[in-house]
Amino acid sequence: MGSHPKSPTSFRRSTRIAHAGLDAPSPETGERGARPHAPPIYQTSGYEYPDARQAEEAAEGQRYIYSRYASPNEDALAGAVAQLEGAEAAVVFASGMGAIAAALESRLGAGDHVVSVHGLYGGTHELLVGLLPRFGVTTTFVDAATADAVAPAIRPETKVVYVEAISNPLLRVADLDGLSALCRDRGVALLVDATFATPLLCRPIERGATLSIHSGTKYLGGHGDAICGVVSGGRADVARLVPLRKMHGASLDPFAAWLVLRGLRTMGLRVERQVSSAATVARALVRMAGVERVWYPGLESHPDHALATRVLDGPGAMVSFEVAGGLDGARRVYDRLRLVSRAASLGEITSLMTHPARFSHLRVDAESRRRAGIADGLLRLSVGIEDADDLVEDLRQAITG
Ligand SMILES: *Cc1c(COP(=O)(O)O)cnc(C)c1O
Repeated sequence: MGSHPKSPTSFRRSTRIAHAGLDAPSPETGERGARPHAPPIYQTSGYEYPDARQAEEAAEGQRYIYSRYASPNEDALAGAVAQLEGAEAAVVFASGMGAIAAALESRLGAGDHVVSVHGLYGGTHELLVGLLPRFGVTTTFVDAATADAVAPAIRPETKVVYVEAISNPLLRVADLDGLSALCRDRGVALLVDATFATPLLCRPIERGATLSIHSGTKYLGGHGDAICGVVSGGRADVARLVPLRKMHGASLDPFAAWLVLRGLRTMGLRVERQVSSAATVARALVRMAGVERVWYPGLESHPDHALATRVLDGPGAMVSFEVAGGLDGARRVYDRLRLVSRAASLGEITSLMTHPARFSHLRVDAESRRRAGIADGLLRLSVGIEDADDLVEDLRQAITG
């Protein structure tokens, strides 16, 4: 320790306090050196250099400088996600919305046009209709994420087609193969929010999309303890996002990056279990008195069942269903849940439920909700890793009790 260049013993008390602990040996290089089994958390705002030459190398982009620009925990998570996505590169953000904003801005300027689909995640819809028009970017919304629905809306100034791999809350599936062929043909970037599908079940880059986007808050982290976003794609496409992250200040905190990477390492097990339980729950709901309709892409009755079989490696772990009695019927069921949590978000190890008409779509007028197929009695379930029979029993007692 005495060999540390800033060994503080000769300094005055306040100086020693300010530098306390900073001369501790790194576990990888110090006297008791050994490589940590879990990655360290680089919970630092920035980096210092032993000499002027290394400081200059940092300025040239060869070393870490400041954690808003880039950090080792972000880079470790980005590398892991890129690999899972089958992409050349990835960049992580402080949130899914940070990722979505940067992904759109990386492709758009004043005068440009976007084609997207009705029923997008609320935050994305707000960005497209509430903010981007102020900067001269307009969006046309079509009814389905298929080449047939999107093609007529593409104009010479269209730069982006933006879809969600599995939509909320009716779990409609995007025809990624048809859309990527269309976009390639028309020279338009295809951006896919694959949050509901997870990289285990859907890898948009491998199917020809330009950028694949995730709210890492959901299945990637999986434990409901960190907010995060990720964008994957080709090296050059992803490189356009890095300065936007820096300018927006949408960088992911090192501890949050560490948490999401820790969660990611069990995603395979979690999602496998969640998909299998979701199928059990969906089949049980179909047979339950008081349930009028079940929306799950794994059921033959779902309008996109055949498409889901083609573009997804599994139908996901979100299940939506309509109960009898409209708003009051759904409120009653929602109120009676004992195991499933009444909570926003999804993709966590515990099961969560929302009542879209009175929650995510509360500010959407009743007529627009009906047109989007969101019935008053619709409930949306994110299936967790609990025992599937316990989930079925909780739903049964809430619905039929
Ligand atoms: C949650 C979510 C987002 C936004 O992600 P945040 O991490 O909350 O910013 C975007 N898209 C979908 C589909 C989501 O579920």
